[in-house]
Amino acid sequence: MTPGDLELFIYSPYNRIADIKMLKFFSEMSSLTFWVLVLLILFSVLIPFFWCRYLCPYGALLGALSWLSPFKIRRNEKSCIDCMKCSKVCPAGIHVHQKNTIWSDECHACLNCVHVCPVKDTLFLSERFRKLKLTGKSYALAVIIIFLAGSFLARQFGYWHNSISHEEYLYHIRHLEEPAYQHNQGEVPDYDPEIWKNNLNEAQNKKEISP
Ligand code: SF4
Ligand code: SF4
Repeated sequence: MTPGDLELFIYSPYNRIADIKMLKFFSEMSSLTFWVLVLLILFSVLIPFFWCRYLCPYGALLGALSWLSPFKIRRNEKSCIDCMKCSKVCPAGIHVHQKNTIWSDECHACLNCVHVCPVKDTLFLSERFRKLKLTGKSYALAVIIIFLAGSFLARQFGYWHNSISHEEYLYHIRHLEEPAYQHNQGEVPDYDPEIWKNNLNEAQNKKEISP
């Protein structure tokens, strides 16, 4: 997509109600969707974290961001007895017993390796100087606090709700079958922003949607 096409796509009717389209994807699923989901569930049972590790684009983005985190799983090689228990329980298949610091986008800080390590203070989650160590509880608490603080700030600064009003949503739902709302095989949906905006205003004037 060119930058112009990208802008057109982002503000397109299709993208403005992508959440409704996603709901319909599951609530009115095709047989192809159904069987793909069955296969994904099957693979996820056979291969731990199959979706997250190999297919999820959001996971890849978060994994890349995780490199920026100051907290990593770290090993004290002096006290390590090479029992390999940490590597055996790692769901991401990381060879924890061979590393002093886990630099991997696949580590999701489950702390399984830390909990199974038999030697005190040998494996831990800490910043690079190894002074501030997070236990499972303090780590969970930090995540909850960050989540709540983020939600609070988003509400305070007006980023919690999108710009689409309830009435506009109703308008979109009524016109969901029109070409402007179709995926168009990955192309920009077939719509003219000006015509579409006029239609929306017209509907508003005709009281099809409230102002
Ligand atoms: S925290 Fe979990 S994912 Fe990360 S290295 Fe340890 S066991 Fe593996
Ligand atoms: S479980 Fe602990 S002691 Fe055993 S190899 Fe891993 S870090 Fe070393």
